[in-house]
Amino acid sequence: MEKNKKTLVTGGNGLVGSCFNQSYKKVSSKDCDLTSFESTKKLFQKEKPNVVIHTAARVGGLGSNMADKSGYFFDNIRINNNVINNSLTHNVDKLVCFLTTCIFPNDVQYPLKPEYLHDGPPHESNYGYAYAKRMGEIYVRTINEQYNKKYFSVVPTNIFGPNDNFSLVHGHVVPALIHKMYIAQKESLDFTVWGSGKPLREFVLSRDVAKIVESLIDKYEETDPVIISSSEEISIADLVEMLVDIFNFKGKVVFDKDKPDGQFRKPTDNSKLKELLPDFKFTPVRQALEETVEWFINNYEICRK
Ligand code: GDP
Repeated sequence: MEKNKKTLVTGGNGLVGSCFNQSYKKVSSKDCDLTSFESTKKLFQKEKPNVVIHTAARVGGLGSNMADKSGYFFDNIRINNNVINNSLTHNVDKLVCFLTTCIFPNDVQYPLKPEYLHDGPPHESNYGYAYAKRMGEIYVRTINEQYNKKYFSVVPTNIFGPNDNFSLVHGHVVPALIHKMYIAQKESLDFTVWGSGKPLREFVLSRDVAKIVESLIDKYEETDPVIISSSEEISIADLVEMLVDIFNFKGKVVFDKDKPDGQFRKPTDNSKLKELLPDFKFTPVRQALEETVEWFINNYEICRK
């Protein structure tokens, strides 16, 4: 990328946002309320970015999504409209919007491909969030067509890493299990995993996602969404085994079959990414877990949990 380009990252304190190059301008909700059009406009007027990496969103766990569907819809629609509209009107050259696989149709063909995104209703539990995120992709598409821009979206799979939300209730599986095992070890308790351990997931380290997006900004000249995934599926039981080993956990591991397994698997098609960045090496999941566990233990007092 040209040296004099200014890159703005929304969600700059978040799991992925915090991993971007230090020279980028990172803003979080403390710096700017992106649900407000006026605040967002002021941010763009002040920063005058050439490139925008839009990771900010109102996100939450299953319970929170189910309880406030209208809030998730309204907030995410406003955040996306404000960031995308201001990118257009402030003549941003490149905009990258973050999507996620959980906004895809509930009844969908696997492996997931970007072109399936709008092919059916999302899961009933999070449709407020999912439709709002999908509309971001539509808005970007209309802008590309009408104004000849090269804005695009990325679709990472199950991201984890330092700076994650380690909440036992709302966290995704990796940070939740790391926190749970930390407590189980400290207090000599059983370690309880939700479900059968059989479901499969594709995990990716947050820093890898940031590195990939930095490369795509330079290389990608098309507008279709790009799935970010190593395409390696790992079972929840295998994940647990790695954590047991990393923690040297000696207690009992219990699979609580009364808790949900969720979707059995949601494999993705990462052929576009492989074609664009054939030499990219994903951090092995084991190594990424070791790094994340170490970060969690060293930052226990201050991390989100
Ligand atoms: P998903 O990939 O969008 O389904 O979300 P998660 O990252 O929360 O992963 C959910 C999968 O991990 C399901 O198969 C759960 O049964 C399993 N799992 C096992 N223990 C836990 C836990 O303590 N928290 C969470 N969130 N998921 C767990």
